[in-house]
Amino acid sequence: MQTYDVIVVGAGTWGSATAWHLARRGVRVLAIDAHTPPHEHGSHGGLTRLARQSNSTGPQYVQLTVRAFELWDQLAARTGTELMTVTGNVMIGAPGSPWFDSTVASLESSPFEHRVLHGAQARAAFPRLRIADHELAVFEPGARIAHVPAALRAMQQVARESGAEFRFDEPVLDWSSDASGARVRTAEGEYVADRLVMTTGAFSARVLHLDLPARVDRQVLVNFAMPPGSTPLPSIYVAGPAGSAAAPDYGCMEPDGTWKFSVASNSHEIDPSALSQDVTPYDVAEVTAVVRDRIPEITGPPVRSTVCMWTEAVDGHWLLGPHPDSPRVVVGAACNGRGFRYAPAIGEILADLTEGTARPDVEAFAPARFSLTPS
Ligand SMILES: Cc1cc2nc3c(=O)[nH]c(=O)nc-3n(C[C@H](O)[C@H](O)[C@H](O)COP(=O)(O)OP(=O)(O)OC[C@H]3O[C@@H](n4cnc5c(N)ncnc54)[C@H](O)[C@@H]3O)c2cc1C
Repeated sequence: MQTYDVIVVGAGTWGSATAWHLARRGVRVLAIDAHTPPHEHGSHGGLTRLARQSNSTGPQYVQLTVRAFELWDQLAARTGTELMTVTGNVMIGAPGSPWFDSTVASLESSPFEHRVLHGAQARAAFPRLRIADHELAVFEPGARIAHVPAALRAMQQVARESGAEFRFDEPVLDWSSDASGARVRTAEGEYVADRLVMTTGAFSARVLHLDLPARVDRQVLVNFAMPPGSTPLPSIYVAGPAGSAAAPDYGCMEPDGTWKFSVASNSHEIDPSALSQDVTPYDVAEVTAVVRDRIPEITGPPVRSTVCMWTEAVDGHWLLGPHPDSPRVVVGAACNGRGFRYAPAIGEILADLTEGTARPDVEAFAPARFSLTPS
């Protein structure tokens, strides 16, 4: 039986970030994953994630954004790898669109540079995008895209360099904790630690044995060929119309020169173990229609797709904090559709909480805000 200070269960986006922060503090850490991240069986599938500085869910994310970007830059410098590319971001919306209005509000209470443009002004600034007269656009020049495989590998590399151990393709079958410690069981054996961090993404309810107030949704990303010789475009979001709570559609240019796009409202709840990479003609047609409408120069057919899933708590915020019934266990779950860009800051928070350092800035995200029952 092997013993550690901390075992991180789920070494995807948030788990790799947590292993990195724990290991750099000298903690003996084991991170175990059912697959070999990066992979396409969870929430980080595909090549990129948009990393805008705004957030549509509240001002409490501003400082986390500042810290996350700082840590991404440190990681890129340390590994000598390009983990993010500054592209700028344009969010298009109609006056009264809740997502658009909350995005602008978050930028106005932040240090992040931004400009709000009206229909004709926005078209003049971004002539390759179709923006109607009655619409507005908010431009964030500091927005970036994150390179998913490189980012995950960089976090794992620096964690390993500080002594973290990773075990891949080894699903955790069960875990337990009591006054004497915590145990994790896989088909390969049993591992013992003082504490556990549970970052199992879409599988969190199942692994935690909790009836989480969160749903797992299937999401489809479709890539299109850009015209030959295309120059870079900013990433874009298209917010729903006035009064619509629908999440915005979004897309960006990927490192292979294709344009990735997703219609966020084309989602449905799934059993995470039933995730398949199959897409329907409807999935592709819906995305194609929005892409052709908003970026008229993209006329070619879709070239590939990725199916992914995200987990959203009923109040739209993350679950970060102690397991309600197991004080040795810290939970990082309900990443929703915007958890990648914050990963290094989340890893730091989960490492702090695991070591018993108070984080009043994220108390509002504690799982205990809900009354959770065992499932
Ligand atoms: C389509 C889509 C688009 C998105 N777009 C953006 C975006 O533009 N910007 C942004 O910031 N965020 C975005 N996100 C969200 C972001 O990708 C996620 O927030 C982030 O990847 C979540 O990380 P995670 O660690 O919770 O999950 P994951 O990265 O999926 O990691 C969970 C890990 O747990 C492992 N695991 C599960 N069960 C077990 C078990 N029993 N034993 C061992 N290991 C286990 C899994 O194999 C997996 O590796 C998007 C998500 C999706 C799905």
